[in-house]
Amino acid sequence: MEPSVSRFIAARHRMLINGKWVEAASGKTFPTYDPATGEVLSNIAEGDREDINRAVTAARAAFETGPWAKMPPSERGRLIWKLGDLIEKYSEEFAQLESLDNGKPLKVARVADVPLAADHFRYYAGWATKIEGNTIPLGLAPQGKFLAYTLREPVGVVGQIIPWNFPLLMAAWKLGPALTAGCCVVLKPAEQTPLSALRLGELIQEAGFPEGVVNIVPGYGETAGAALAAHPDVDKVAFTGSTEVGKLILHAAAGNLKKVSLELGGKSPNIVFDDADVDKAIAGAASAIFFNHGQCCCAGSRLFIEKDIFDKVVDGVSRHAESIRVRPGFDPECDMGPLVSEEQMNRVCGYLDSGKQEGAKAVAGGARLGNKGYFVKPTVLINTNENMKVVQEEIFGPVVTAMPFTDATDVIPKSNDTIYGLAAGIWTKDIKKAHALAAKLRAGTVWINCYNIFDAALPFGGYKQSGWGREMGHEVLENYTEVKSVCAAL
Ligand code: ADP
Repeated sequence: MEPSVSRFIAARHRMLINGKWVEAASGKTFPTYDPATGEVLSNIAEGDREDINRAVTAARAAFETGPWAKMPPSERGRLIWKLGDLIEKYSEEFAQLESLDNGKPLKVARVADVPLAADHFRYYAGWATKIEGNTIPLGLAPQGKFLAYTLREPVGVVGQIIPWNFPLLMAAWKLGPALTAGCCVVLKPAEQTPLSALRLGELIQEAGFPEGVVNIVPGYGETAGAALAAHPDVDKVAFTGSTEVGKLILHAAAGNLKKVSLELGGKSPNIVFDDADVDKAIAGAASAIFFNHGQCCCAGSRLFIEKDIFDKVVDGVSRHAESIRVRPGFDPECDMGPLVSEEQMNRVCGYLDSGKQEGAKAVAGGARLGNKGYFVKPTVLINTNENMKVVQEEIFGPVVTAMPFTDATDVIPKSNDTIYGLAAGIWTKDIKKAHALAAKLRAGTVWINCYNIFDAALPFGGYKQSGWGREMGHEVLENYTEVKSVCAAL
C-alpha cells in the first residue's frame, strides 16, 4: 500500500463545506469497513440534516454570488480538465482507496474505475463552452416583428446521491456534467465507500474550484441522503442507486418539486443465439455478470440461451465462474474481491437460498466463500423460471440465471418481462437479427456482441423502473440545465 494511502485511511475524515474541512455539527463519526476482513478501515464525520443545511447554504451562495457565477465557461472547463489531470496524477492512490473501501480488485480499479473517472471529467470539460440555446422563428408572427431565442442556464443547486459500486466513477458521472453546466453541488457519497470522494474533495480544492461550488457530506442515506433529497433550497436531485430508494427520493423531492433524475436498478437480459461466436459469447456472458462481482446496475443477470446450445453455453459460463480467483482486492491474483458489505453478502446469500427453495440448481458456486470477509462464489443457476425471485428481482451480486429460448419471437417477451429496463446484450453473427431485436428490447442500452462498454459520450440510463433521464453524452446536460425562452418585440 502506498504510504499516502495508509496515512489517508488512518486520518479522521471530515466533510467539505464551503471550501473547508469541518466536523459534523453533531460531532458524530461512522466507520467504514474493509470488506475483505470486516475490520474497520476509517472513521468519517457523519453528516446529518444540519450539515446538509450548511452545505446547501454554501452551494447557494457560491451559485448566486460567488466567483463561479461570473466565471467564463472556458475557465470552468479548464478547472474540470485539471481535476481529470489530478485524478490521473494520483491514479494509483485512487485505485488503492477504491479497492480497500469497495473490495474490488486493485488491478480492475487501475484499468477501469480510475481512468474512466479522469476521462469523464475531461469529456465534460469540453462541454463547458458548448452549451447553447437556439434562435426560434415564430410561426404565427409576421417576419421581423420578434426576435425569439432560448438560453440554456444552469439548474442551480444540485444534490447528488451516489452508490458504492463504483464510488469514484459515480462521483465523476455526477459532478462532471453538473459543473460544466455551471451548477453548484452537494454530493453525498455512499456510507460504505466515502473515501475516494473525500480524496476527490481535496483535489477539487487543489484544482482551484471556488469555495462552495462542490460540498461533500458523507453520512447515511436515511439521514443525510433523505435531508438532501427533501431540502427546500435544492433545485435538483440526481440519484444513482436502488429502485426502492429511488422511489423514496422522488417522494422526498415532491415537497418543492425539485427536478429529479434517477439511475436505478436492472435485471438485464443477455441473449445468446446459436449463430453467435459461441466462445466469445460465453466469455462475454461471464464478464457481463461477474464484472465488479455482479454489483453493476446493468449486470447481465438473466442469460437467455438458444436451446440447441444451452448446455454448451451453461457449461462454458460455469467453467469461467469456477476459474475466477476470489480473493482480497489487493492480492495480485484476485479476479473477484469480496462484496461490499456484510449486508450485501447476506442479501445475495438470501437470494441463493430462495433460488434453491424454489427449485433452481446451482451448476457453479451457490454459496458464501470462507467465513471471513464478504466473499460469495460466482454462481450460475439453471432450472429457473420467470416466477422465481432470483429471476425477477435485482440480486446485485455474482449470480446469473440461465434459461433456454426457441427463437427471437420467444425471447423478446421473456427479455422484457421485468419491471426494469436498463440494459440488454445480444450475441449473434446475423446483423439483421441483432438490430431488429435491439429495437424491440425495452432497455436504455443494448450491447451487440459485447457487454459493459461504457464511454463518457454514450448516454446511459433506464426505461421503466430503471430510472428517469440519462447519464453521460450530451443527454445528461438536460438534467442540469433549464431552458429559458426570450421573446422580444422589434
Ligand atoms: P444499496 O441498497 O445497494 O446500498 P441504496 O440505493 O440504498 O443502495 O444506496 C445508494 C445511495 O442512496 C447511498 O448513498 C445511500 O446512502 C443513499 N440512500 C439510501 N437511502 C436513502 C434515502 N432514504 N434517502 C436518500 N438517500 C438514500
